Amino acid sequence: MKVARFRFDASLRELLQHEHNNGEFDYAFRGPQTAKHLIESAGIPHTEIGSVRAGAAEVGTGYQVSDKDIVDVSAYDPGPETGPEPRFVLDGHLGRLKSHLRMLGYDCLYETSYDDDQLLQLALAEDRVLLTRDRRLLMHKALQRGYLVRSLEPMQQFQEVVRRYSLIRWIRPFQRCIRCNHLLEPVEKQVIIDRLEPLTKLYFDEFRICPACRRIYWKGSHFEKMERMIAALQE
Ligand SMILES: [Zn+2]
Repeated sequence: MKVARFRFDASLRELLQHEHNNGEFDYAFRGPQTAKHLIESAGIPHTEIGSVRAGAAEVGTGYQVSDKDIVDVSAYDPGPETGPEPRFVLDGHLGRLKSHLRMLGYDCLYETSYDDDQLLQLALAEDRVLLTRDRRLLMHKALQRGYLVRSLEPMQQFQEVVRRYSLIRWIRPFQRCIRCNHLLEPVEKQVIIDRLEPLTKLYFDEFRICPACRRIYWKGSHFEKMERMIAALQE
């Protein structure tokens, strides 16, 4: 039996089993084992791992852990403001998070009918970040980009995702269909006036329409909600 000491960043500790949640423990194991395997066995998907160090050296997740190693594991950090805007695919339990993200313009694929294989395929084929609360799904070896959503509450989930990926710089409210993810197009009031409720007709002049599902958007109740969400992010 070999024993290695593992130490985890503060932000990863909440993901460890209760008896390990001070973030530091001795790991007993047999045979050749990679750091990735041992970290995932402790409950942390590889998508949450940043750097892995053994002693002073940066070794990566594929490192074969040796007896008496001290292994330091840091949390994944998407880094400073580089790279393109991330796009997402969400598992079927995150419908309200999907709506919040689309409401502020972020590209989110979501169908309640997606099974695990489809979620993984979409994440890989379109280089999307998989958002889920299912650790097993994020431990799939082919998956490159994913985030384990911590909170059960949709607004907190939304704040988690916006902060992790610094999404505030790409915010585009009133641009994307909440129902089907298409980008909205401006539409003349006269064209859709028959579909408007009397008060909407009276108080609003600027409208957008989804070219796919034909849903109409205006700066009414949704817009006030968006403004509250943006204000909450900037607190
Ligand atoms: Zn639509």
